[in-house]
Order: sequence, then C-alpha cells, then structure tokens
Amino acid sequence: MVDDSTAAAVLPGLCAYCGAPAGGIAVCAACARALPWNAPACRGCAMPVAAPEQALCAECAADPPPFDAAFAAFRFEPPVQQAVHGLKYEARFHFGRMLGRLMAQRLAARPEPLPELLIPVPLHRRRLARRGYNQALLLARELAAVLALRVEAGAARRCRATADQIGQSRRERRHNMQGAFVVERPLAGLHVALLDDVMTTGATLGELARACRAAGAARVEAWVAARVV
Ligand SMILES: [Zn+2]
Ligand SMILES: [Zn+2]
Repeated sequence: MVDDSTAAAVLPGLCAYCGAPAGGIAVCAACARALPWNAPACRGCAMPVAAPEQALCAECAADPPPFDAAFAAFRFEPPVQQAVHGLKYEARFHFGRMLGRLMAQRLAARPEPLPELLIPVPLHRRRLARRGYNQALLLARELAAVLALRVEAGAARRCRATADQIGQSRRERRHNMQGAFVVERPLAGLHVALLDDVMTTGATLGELARACRAAGAARVEAWVAARVV
C-alpha cells in the first residue's frame, strides 16, 4: 500500500490506495485491512483500549465526557492522516468519499440505533469563506447517503472564531471553545450525532455537545473519521 494517492483515486470503482478494482467501494479489501482501524476503543472518548469488553476507559469513568458516546473509525495515523489532510487542506474530495464510506461500514454494523440527525461541526464563516467548503459536511453527506440519515448543516453555527488549538493543553482548548457554538434549531428529545474529521482532545465536539444538550437533545454522540491517540 502507498500512503498517497494520485490518478487511481479519482477513477470510480478503483481502490483509492492501490488502484485495484474495488467493486464500487472506495478501498479494496486488502488495503482496507491494512488501515489503522480504531478498535477496540472506549465508548466514551474513542481512545484505544486493551480489552474489547471495556465500555469506558479509566479517564471517562472518573470524568465522563460531555457526549454520551464517541466513535472514531480510525486512529490518526498514516495513511488515514494523509487522507484527512488531503480532504481538509487540499480539496481532495475523493478522500472524503473514502473516509465517509469506511466510517459508514463500521457504523452500519453496530447494534445500537442510529441517530435521527447528523450535525457536522460548523466552521466559522470566515474560515468557510477561505477554505470554500466544510470537510465535516462532506463526510456527513457521505454517511447520510449510505446510512439513510438526515443531515442538517445549519443546525449549529460557530459564532466565534477560535484560535488554532495546536500546542494548547486540554484545559486551554476547553476554555478557548467556551461559547463557540449556537444551536439554531430546537433539538428536544432528539438523538443526534455530531460529525468532524478529527478528534484531538474532544474540546470542540464537547462544546458543541453542550450546546446541543442545552437545545434539548436527548442523546448526543461524537463521530469522527480519525482520533489522535
Ligand atoms: Zn487497494
Ligand atoms: Zn474514554
């Protein structure tokens, strides 16, 4: 497997990694097996855990996260790391289709009910204008198409531009995110999943989860393509 993709990735039906026929899915079976799947993982924060039967890691048991459950299809490691980067910064949208489909395969197999509403983490309007697209919305559309879920990109708005969080501690990130989101629609009684490309400390998803709960959401999950571990 190569950790970058070029021409093969844009041709439908071919594996995004090796270019072999992939039968309409984004990655062939051999390359999919070699990806850094994030399992088993803590159901609270999606950090890898040793024992599959362990529902919550020690940290979540002591200090539960602001969402009810977290899911990360992958660990943020090569070649998924490059795919996320390509989607986010280089407008390489085939990586969004690939990551979304692979996430959907895992989610389709879970025994728990799926959410009633998918809310992509919104970008601040200035960042959206600069980038031209929201990578979380692209992932959400892919998941929605495969899992027959409803996406509402306008359900939440980022009302405050936040500084880049690279290099900040968990506490600084949490503080930095406070009040960053406004939920624009009532969520009374709804089971929602928030969607982002990457989870690092969970501060962004945590803050959006709090805003959704304040809007009445009954259950809030945090879904990402990849977890920084
Ligand atoms: Zn392949
Ligand atoms: Zn945990």
